[in-house]
Amino acid sequence: MSANRGNLFILSAPSGAGKSSLITALLKRHADMKVSVSHTTRQPRPGEENAVHYHFVTVDEFKALIDKNDFFEWAQVFENYYGTSKQAIETQLAHGIDVFLDIDWQGARQVRELAPDVQTIFIVPPSKAELESRLNNRGQDSAEVIASRMAKAQAETSHYDEYDYMIINDDFDIALSELETIVLSHRLKQSNQALKYQPLLTDLLKED
Ligand code: GDP
Ligand code: ADP
Ligand code: 5GP
Repeated sequence: MSANRGNLFILSAPSGAGKSSLITALLKRHADMKVSVSHTTRQPRPGEENAVHYHFVTVDEFKALIDKNDFFEWAQVFENYYGTSKQAIETQLAHGIDVFLDIDWQGARQVRELAPDVQTIFIVPPSKAELESRLNNRGQDSAEVIASRMAKAQAETSHYDEYDYMIINDDFDIALSELETIVLSHRLKQSNQALKYQPLLTDLLKED
């Protein structure tokens, strides 16, 4: 592993729990962290931009990318395909940038196999009623889509025990500082620091 390689983090949660908001707020504070932009076959929501929020593609385009082996992981979520391309993460990690994947539990399982040092974080809402009200207040999905996401929230939540960390996103600022604590603690692990600061350690340990 190169001395400056970035760390990989996964955030999963039932839809509406606040993954995207937490990642966006964390990235505003840290220039050396980035979110991976996934490919999806779902329709863009109002305000979502191609290549910023997702790479929006057709089912045929998605399948062609699978055939070309371009995906690091992919899964079918809510009747659509979602996937992380190898390109979305490799260049950033190689440049020492920490990369966040906002992916579901099926994707998390694949990434754990491929990158065992990935740090995984599960976000839960404070209650079912609050989850539903956040999905409604976000105002970007139809009543039918919201009902289907609420119905699937339990299935996503049932995988909470496969994750390294868990955050309850009740008060947003507390949840954000908890996320930041996890990320910064991981960076500060002796093994990560020793790789990054090898020249300093070599110099300090040199016999005069
Ligand atoms: P959100 O849950 O409201 O953020 O809705 P999205 O449509 O953005 O995401 C839908 C689901 O797809 C969520 O469970 C995401 O975690 C998952 N997802 C998004 N991108 C990816 C990806 O690249 N790979 C995988 N495996 N899942 C993804
Ligand atoms: P996800 O990416 O998990 O689907 P979002 O980040 O889009 O969730 O959040 C869903 C909605 O809930 C958004 O409108 C967001 O502004 C709001 N939200 C997120 N966290 C909180 C919180 N702690 N308190 C109140 N509203 C929140
Ligand atoms: P949304 O359609 O609301 O943007 O996302 C729905 C779900 O898909 C979320 O739980 C999100 O984490 C997941 N998701 C988004 N991108 C990917 C991806 O690239 N791979 C996987 N496995 N899940 C994804």
